[in-house]
Amino acid sequence: MRLRTRLALAFALLALVPLAVMVPFTLTRLRATLSRGLDARMESATASGQEAIDRTAATARRAVEELVESPALEDLARESRESPSRAIRADTARPLMKSRGLTVLALFDRKGTTLSSGHLPARRGDPDPVLFAVTKEKSPQPVPVKVSVRDNQGLREVPALVTARPVDYGDSRLWVVGGVLLDQGLAAHLARLTQAEVAILSGKTEVARAGAVLAPTVARVLPLGEGVTVRLVFSRAAEREATLGVLRSFLLLAGLGLGFAVLLGLLMARRITQPVEALTEGVRRVGQGEMDEQVRVDTTGEVGELVKTFNRMTTELRSTTERLVASERVAAWQEVARRLAHEIKNPLTPIRMSIETLVAVQDAGDARFPAIFKQSAGVILEEVDRLRRIVDEFSQFARLPKPQLEPVDLGELAKSVLSLYATPPEGIEVRSDVQAGVVAKADRDQLTQVLVNLVKNAEEAMAQGGGTVHVRVRGTEREAQVEVQDSGPGIPPEHRARIFEPYFTTKEGGTGLGLAIAARILQEHGGKLDVGSEPGQGACFTLSLPRAH
Ligand code: ADP
Repeated sequence: MRLRTRLALAFALLALVPLAVMVPFTLTRLRATLSRGLDARMESATASGQEAIDRTAATARRAVEELVESPALEDLARESRESPSRAIRADTARPLMKSRGLTVLALFDRKGTTLSSGHLPARRGDPDPVLFAVTKEKSPQPVPVKVSVRDNQGLREVPALVTARPVDYGDSRLWVVGGVLLDQGLAAHLARLTQAEVAILSGKTEVARAGAVLAPTVARVLPLGEGVTVRLVFSRAAEREATLGVLRSFLLLAGLGLGFAVLLGLLMARRITQPVEALTEGVRRVGQGEMDEQVRVDTTGEVGELVKTFNRMTTELRSTTERLVASERVAAWQEVARRLAHEIKNPLTPIRMSIETLVAVQDAGDARFPAIFKQSAGVILEEVDRLRRIVDEFSQFARLPKPQLEPVDLGELAKSVLSLYATPPEGIEVRSDVQAGVVAKADRDQLTQVLVNLVKNAEEAMAQGGGTVHVRVRGTEREAQVEVQDSGPGIPPEHRARIFEPYFTTKEGGTGLGLAIAARILQEHGGKLDVGSEPGQGACFTLSLPRAH
């Protein structure tokens, strides 16, 4: 991954960390605060629900007490002294019940027979043990009881808060049992008051329901006694909405923060990495031999200092390299001149000796002069030829033209060189092993010259005992290689460092320039010529060139 990408990612991560820590923390806090708020709201709503029920009970109690003390009831008690069933009719209780705002009212005789029922007139004459049992209650407070009523749903049991009071006239006693039904009316009132969904339950049966709230919900139950309960259902929707809202804002914030961080990261990374990348490229070029490489980026601080130092270093490197190359060249040419002089001196001695012999023979008037002359002329001509060869090869070495580069398929080149050796000398076998499609940019003629030279050297090395020349062409990712291996005597270690020097030869009549020229050609191509040799195992020359794809 590039430095630029890594920096941008690091910035993004840095922006995410505080958000990642904050989001759960804030959400937990928010949820706690909201649910505390909801709890408080539910508590107060439940309390006011309970108060409303208590108030209803108190109102019912007062209404029953006022009714009992009213003159109308006193009249009824009096009239019913002789014959209660005649004085009190089935429809007596109903108007009394209505006038006091009650929804349950029954008049009983002392034994518990219903004389009149406001909520269920058909009860007249029947005992109603459940309702009559309220007369045994000690507490003046209304108590919950299941009362039978008939409404549009038919005859059913509805819970009610009722209380009982006796009305005495002389020795006769009339029981007044009255109260309020816990029905739809109360449920609707509680729902309005508490903003909750209210259900009145008798055991498991739902008697009334009012109000509606959005899910999700949470419930509170108010037990009224005798299996009668009021269930208040509160909505948590607002709380959830708030949490989601905060979460959404956080996500939006996170997205924006992330985008901003990545952008900032990229911008900063660019500022930081641009000079570093330029430097890396510069170092790579210097590595490839471009000594005059100068990095031009406008930057300050440590990186700026680094760039300046790098530029100074390459400038120095360049001048040092130039000086080094110049002095090496001088030394090399001095060596070449010394050897050339030596080479030229060699034929001069036999020439001089031949001429001196001829002069001496002629001065002596020796009769063998014609024969000696012929022999000496032969020697002189031979040595002059040798001189010419030395001069020719030297001028070729000295004036090596610049390579004319073109894509060359090394496999094809090797094959065409080997075709020259289609009929090798006696005892010598030529083998090739060629990988197809290995192409290098090279001067075809110069490369042919190198290969011819290497194969010729291999053959010459095996002139005595015979053997095999093996030519291989292969390519690696970056390099194209040709290997020329022979099974000759090999190169002794003490010669190995010298065989590329001009005029180093171990051959009678050799010039010692072949490998020197080959090495120079490869050097000019940006390649190299290596030799590997185990004594007695033959020599292996490998030429390597940068591969062209
Ligand atoms: P020359 O062939 O004229 O001697 P070169 O520069 O081609 O000049 O070779 C220099 C020397 O390197 C040779 O004289 C020989 O000693 C040695 N040499 C080159 N190729 C081989 C080889 N294949 N096996 C053994 N020695 C070799």
